[in-house]
Order: sequence, then structure tokens, then C-alpha cells
Amino acid sequence: MARAARAVQTAQDPLEQYQYLLDLGEALTLTLGMLSASWLRQFAPVDPSLETLHRAYRLRGVSQGHWHEVVKAAEKKMAKSEAGVPGFVDGVRSRKGEPGVVEALKEILAERNRAAHGARPHNRGEAAARNSDLAPIAEIAVTRADFLADSPWALVEGVSLRRNDKRWNVRVRRAMGDHPDFDALTQVADQPLANDTFYVMVAPEPLDLTPMLVMRYCDQCRQPEVCHADRIDEKAGVSLKSFARGHQVFDTDLVQEVDALVPTKPADKRTGS
Ligand SMILES: [Zn+2]
Repeated sequence: MARAARAVQTAQDPLEQYQYLLDLGEALTLTLGMLSASWLRQFAPVDPSLETLHRAYRLRGVSQGHWHEVVKAAEKKMAKSEAGVPGFVDGVRSRKGEPGVVEALKEILAERNRAAHGARPHNRGEAAARNSDLAPIAEIAVTRADFLADSPWALVEGVSLRRNDKRWNVRVRRAMGDHPDFDALTQVADQPLANDTFYVMVAPEPLDLTPMLVMRYCDQCRQPEVCHADRIDEKAGVSLKSFARGHQVFDTDLVQEVDALVPTKPADKRTGS
């Protein structure tokens, strides 16, 4: 997210800036969507939006439109919950004269779809004209989503029990610092967390972002990369996309975790025919 926002600010060429604005919309959509899904799983596990999400993973893959629905579902549930992510409901809801973050992101997505269907700006002038419409909407989306800064995302590297008070020292790398490299720090938690796992660090209990967001080794980059789950491939397992480069990584172990997004697996009606 921070990286996408920086790219928009530093782009000189209007055509480049146009693409970065679309990418920013996608990054913000994914961020909010994954946060929403991990919250719903913990606090509203039978919400129908999780079933829809699961079906999308199983069929053609999760689109931005799917994520927008998950975010709206989380907003509705959080509005009635005391365990909501701070600032989430206010940021997502539209208010008089100003769209909420999902409404703003839908406008950016509509532009992205126009571009994907052949209506890309063809020259700098055309791009500049589109950007003058798109940039203010992106600005609204980013501003309305500023609550995300209060719920930092972290990759857990190591956990150890504190013998004196039976709490846990958790060594994490923050995934939202302004510098693209993670900053390492130690936090105290009331419960143990899993190593090599991304969490949203919120009280009272951090939200596990697996299987939506994982750290996996990328053969092309020859190093671990931050990846998001895209869809399930029948043969190869969960198809993951790296955030930085869009590289594809497969993981068979994650299939079970994606299926666990719905609490009870529906009975398999396919009877070996
Ligand atoms: Zn890679």
C-alpha cells in the first residue's frame, strides 16, 4: 500500500501515473479485503460473504469486486460488534457528500475495467485528463482508509514465553513501514502466535491473515516474497501472487486452509461418476 502510494506521487509521466492509480486501488482493495476476511472468520464465521469468497477461490479466482463485497459485509457486522477494527466502520461507510472507501474503490475499479476492455488512454494528454478525475477519488479512498495505520500488519518471526508473567515476547517485522524493507521489533502479546505468519496486530487478539496473505519462497526471485492467495488450482494447489512483482507461486498445503474459510465443509455430492 505505502509502496503503491509512493509510486503515484513520484510518477512523472501521466500514462505511468494512470497505471499507478489503478494499482493503488487494487492494493487498497486487497488490504481491506484480507483484513475483513480475517476479522469475519474470527468474529462472524458463518457470514455468507466468507462462503462467497471461498467459492471464488475455488472457481475463477478472487476479483476486486469480490473483495469489495467482503469489506461491506465486515462493515455491517462490525457496526454491531464491540470487537470491530478501530475506525473501520467510519472509513468504509459513505457519509453526506463523501463516498466511503469502498465506493471510492469501486470507481477506480470501474476505470480499471474500462482500461482492460480497450479504453486505455492512448496518449499523455488523454491520461492527464483521466488522472484529473481519478486522482481525487484515489485521494478520498486513501484518506478514508487512514484507520489502517492504527492496526499494523506484522510478520511473526519468533515467539517465546515470558517466565515471569506468562505472556509472550513476539519478534515481528512490521509490514507497513514507509521503507519497503521491514523493520524488526519485539512486542508483548497475551497469547502465543504462529511463526512465519502475518497478523493484523489488533487488541484483544491479533488477526491471522493466513491463507489470504503469506510469505513464500519465490523461485524467480530466489527469496521469500509477500504473496496473496488468488485461486485454487485443482492440481497445483493454491495459486499465490507476489505483491512486488506479480510472480506466481503454488502451495498445496494451503488448500486446506482456504477450504477452512467456511466452517463446515459442504458435503461432497459428486459421487465418483
Ligand atoms: Zn518473485
